[in-house]
Amino acid sequence: MTDLTLADWQSRADSFRPETRLFIDGDYVDAVEGNRFESINPADRSVVAAFSAGNEKDIDRAVAAAKVSFKTGVWSKMAPRDRMNVLYRLADLVDENAKELALMETLDMGKPINDCLTMDIPFVADTFRYFAECIDKIEGSITNTENDVLSLILRQPIGVVGAISPWNFPLLMAAWKVAPALAAGNSTVLKPAEQSPMSCLKLAKLFMEAGGPAGVLNVVPGLGEEAGKALALHMDVSKVSFTGSTEVGKLMLIYAGQSNMKKVSLECGGKSPNIFLGDLVGDKLEQAAEAAAHAIYLNMGEVCSAGSRILVDQKIHGDFLEAFKEKGKDLYKPGNPLDPGCNMGPLVDHQSQDRVLGAVAQAKVEGATLEFGGDTPGGDLSAGAYVNPTLFSGVNNTMTIARAETFGPVASMIPFNGLDEALSIANDSIYGLAAAVWTNDLNLAHQFVRDIEAGTVFVNSYDEGDMTQPFGGFKQSGNAKDKCFESLLSYTQAKAAWFRFS
Ligand code: NAD
Repeated sequence: MTDLTLADWQSRADSFRPETRLFIDGDYVDAVEGNRFESINPADRSVVAAFSAGNEKDIDRAVAAAKVSFKTGVWSKMAPRDRMNVLYRLADLVDENAKELALMETLDMGKPINDCLTMDIPFVADTFRYFAECIDKIEGSITNTENDVLSLILRQPIGVVGAISPWNFPLLMAAWKVAPALAAGNSTVLKPAEQSPMSCLKLAKLFMEAGGPAGVLNVVPGLGEEAGKALALHMDVSKVSFTGSTEVGKLMLIYAGQSNMKKVSLECGGKSPNIFLGDLVGDKLEQAAEAAAHAIYLNMGEVCSAGSRILVDQKIHGDFLEAFKEKGKDLYKPGNPLDPGCNMGPLVDHQSQDRVLGAVAQAKVEGATLEFGGDTPGGDLSAGAYVNPTLFSGVNNTMTIARAETFGPVASMIPFNGLDEALSIANDSIYGLAAAVWTNDLNLAHQFVRDIEAGTVFVNSYDEGDMTQPFGGFKQSGNAKDKCFESLLSYTQAKAAWFRFS
């Protein structure tokens, strides 16, 4: 919890003047054509600032700067220990600037300030520390081959990496791309989501303060179809690392095919099943029901891995539903996100609010039972893009609410009979990002872990983990892993070198 009060944060917000220009080749610069777009505070519809909107020309400038920095080797050939030190200093600077970065996230996308201070920003610092630690652990190998031959495999950086990030954890999702890309020695151009460019622009400055060379980390905010597309189509970008919707993720593959066959790593949407087996009773059932509510309502439900499909065994369904209503209904209360006591802000924008309320209306039409929520808070919050925590029961897996990503605080409860049926429902989805099972039965837990089609799975927990844990999806949730050493290696390429001695 922060030492500042709501009044303190409000006064900081009122006098806050963020940097609004692009960051290219070590400096803030205006967009070539001078275009701007507004970031709107979703809590009250006020304009936070008008940001330079990068387009193809700005992306060209940024990629050119990144390419020069890569070729000169100022970063790509820097001794690993020196590169480590820069990223360690950057992690420290993130910590030192935590309050300002947190305020940026709250104003840009409505995330509660306390979440920013206790989750997003510390996790960003962890991300840079973890990948800094990994830098001199990237090893090539010598293969076992003929006597007169030395066969080496080198791991080298790829070149210019384009990172395209979403708004739901603005700086953290960007850090999951940029930190391993930089650690591996690449130069980068980051295109943050247009809803939340502020903290990424600040990160670029902190990178320079930490001793990073100019041109190595460039940040070009702009619209997806302009700046994002230009980056993904660029002939001098060797890899694009994308986090966002499945729909746009598919475009990334097309752009790569239309340009230079760049590598594409995708972290996309989800409709993750959180499964509660029939052996849960008493306190365990109550705790599990509360955990189910956290898994869907945290961050206003705007979490790619949110446990939005709550599958409950028929044996415990009645008790579980009651426990969820009792524990889950008031666990998250919409409020002013600048209030340190608030745990639920508005959705990112009013378009999202309309989309989520539309999904609620559709679920009712399709026959789901609204248990609570499905509406917006009134009073002081009526101007904001809020949606109250919502629960539907009586959902079946053919309903839209069980199939499409809602990306809001809407839970669907789906009954089943036994683990086999739960697995078949859970796996009947185009997505495969995260999944969890809650049970005391080790055999069933093991069967679940083996048979569930998801990249990140939990047993008796949800959305836990640390930097060593690969995070990424199966199926249309993506083709890559963030965090973890494997992610770092994906920002390198293997070169085989065959030395003949004779
Ligand atoms: P989005 O796909 O609309 O946008 C993501 C990024 O792509 C933004 O920077 C946007 O400007 C850019 N973009 C949009 N259209 C583009 C185009 N035609 N060409 C190039 N770039 C384009 O997603 P969003 O609304 O910002 O984020 C929410 C989505 O992100 C959800 O689907 C969520 O599940 C997903 N997400 C996934 C993960 C994960 O790790 N799997 C993490 C966070 C969010």
